Amino acid sequence: MDLTLLPLIDDQKCFETVRRLRWQTGVACPQCESAQITKWGMDETQACRQRYHCGGCGRDFDDLTSTVFAGHHQPLRVWLLCLYFMGLNLSNRQIARELSLDEDSTHDMASQLRDGIVARQPAVVLSGEVECDEVYVVAGHKGHPEAVNKKGDHPVEGA
Ligand SMILES: [Zn+2]
Repeated sequence: MDLTLLPLIDDQKCFETVRRLRWQTGVACPQCESAQITKWGMDETQACRQRYHCGGCGRDFDDLTSTVFAGHHQPLRVWLLCLYFMGLNLSNRQIARELSLDEDSTHDMASQLRDGIVARQPAVVLSGEVECDEVYVVAGHKGHPEAVNKKGDHPVEGA
């Protein structure tokens, strides 16, 4: 299996991927769901992290607000690589090995990712197939968690 991941590891690519995944129907305020959004510069410490200002409620937010990525100690690229590996049907054990994580952490991350990357909109975000560079990442099988779990835990032959 060819696991050439360089295109995904770049910070710019990571944030582009997050934006593509979470703003599928356009940028909307995580607080009031208003679509009256103005781009509001970039994050001071992460140059690729877009900030926004909501014209509806006046709050500021950014690409990671209300996502499972925010406030977590794992870097964004680790989350996205986890998602990428899930799309390749790697088992939690294989993902843990690829990312140098322990299996418990990997299991937690995979579980959260399967529920959707945006905590408040699990049914909207990551349902069905989303394009993630050269691969199709399948995530958020709402209503069929047991099918996903079975698939996710199934070892890949020859890997
Ligand atoms: Zn708002």
